[in-house]
Amino acid sequence: MGWQQQIQAALQTRRAADAWRQRPVIEQNDGRWLQVAGERYLHFSGNDYLGLSQHPALIRAWQQGAAQSGAGAGASGHVSGHSRYHAELEQQLADWLGYSRALLFISGFAANQALIHLLAGKGDRILADKLSHASLLDAASHVPATLRRFTHNQPASLAARLATPCAGNTLVVTEGIFSMDGDSAPLAALAQQTRAADGWLLVDDAHGIGVIGEQGRGSCWQQQVKPELLVVTFGKAFGVSGAAVLCDEETADYLVQFARHLIYSTAMPPAQACALQAALREIQQADAQRQKLQQLIQRFRQGAAALPWSLLPSASAIQPLLVGDNGRALALAQRLRTAGFWLTAIRPPTVPPGTARLRITLTARHEEQDIDRLLEALSDAASE
Ligand SMILES: *Cc1c(COP(=O)(O)O)cnc(C)c1O
Repeated sequence: MGWQQQIQAALQTRRAADAWRQRPVIEQNDGRWLQVAGERYLHFSGNDYLGLSQHPALIRAWQQGAAQSGAGAGASGHVSGHSRYHAELEQQLADWLGYSRALLFISGFAANQALIHLLAGKGDRILADKLSHASLLDAASHVPATLRRFTHNQPASLAARLATPCAGNTLVVTEGIFSMDGDSAPLAALAQQTRAADGWLLVDDAHGIGVIGEQGRGSCWQQQVKPELLVVTFGKAFGVSGAAVLCDEETADYLVQFARHLIYSTAMPPAQACALQAALREIQQADAQRQKLQQLIQRFRQGAAALPWSLLPSASAIQPLLVGDNGRALALAQRLRTAGFWLTAIRPPTVPPGTARLRITLTARHEEQDIDRLLEALSDAASE
């Protein structure tokens, strides 16, 4: 089959499966409200859990950073793109999270790819939670190491995988809070088993960092686990974009020497590193917002218990309503959109077949009345 026929066939399959993906053009977004095609919607689908993307201190820091150091980094960090703002931010992140080193990446996707491509060689193995993010599983399936997935959040399943002998190194991979289910990994049990097998643990805490744990230090801090490799991303609670890998001194040196995603890619703009420093300061002081978010989560879960769709066991800001069928999930999202709510139906292949869902996310920008209005609209949709 030529490219053209292949493309046409793939698109047709997508459409027929109610799995067509689109990118709506957002006219305005203040964290609580979205405007699309002239209409305003209550926004329940972002990852900006503390509303920091709209915070004046971050915007000011970005502006001042740009005024001092320009719009872009101008080169890879290995050439001339690593500014004092980058260096300061790395040190602040390492101190905050209790690691020797932090290395900045332009995205969480790049950070995960870099780690896995660099570490997982021939004869090694990667044991990853089945629901790990695409950036982890994609990389893991493209490296010479073997990839085995273990049952979601089941340390016993990991133990069974670890029991198989392996001559090479073992990298165990999980998320802190899972992006599509919102539940937390049992990090202490995973870490203990990994250590007993002389492996390394990689925790991607994209959805935990900033949102939980003392000072917002995330899932690992909350569960008192220090993985060999911690990935934190800045596109969610930090309200900006970018990521960092936290690790020991030698691993950081190794990444700087050999990680192609770092070496052959332009550093994030210095102004962005400046904005991220401001985000970190806000996050460290955001106990009140984190508390408010927890109250909103409780309120939503209590109300949603009465709905006909099952609520996944999530204590996080990610509250998926399991619908099952793609078409029905789409129809429900559409029904809510008509009622003034912006939420997305998440469908396979992002989630396993038969588990299409509304991925509802809450933020500290919401008010109690927003939650109540959403619950009412869901209840109306259920009784139709
Ligand atoms: C969003 C996300 C990423 C990707 O991070 P970006 O900085 O957006 O590229 C990686 N891992 C998880 C679990 C995520 O949710």
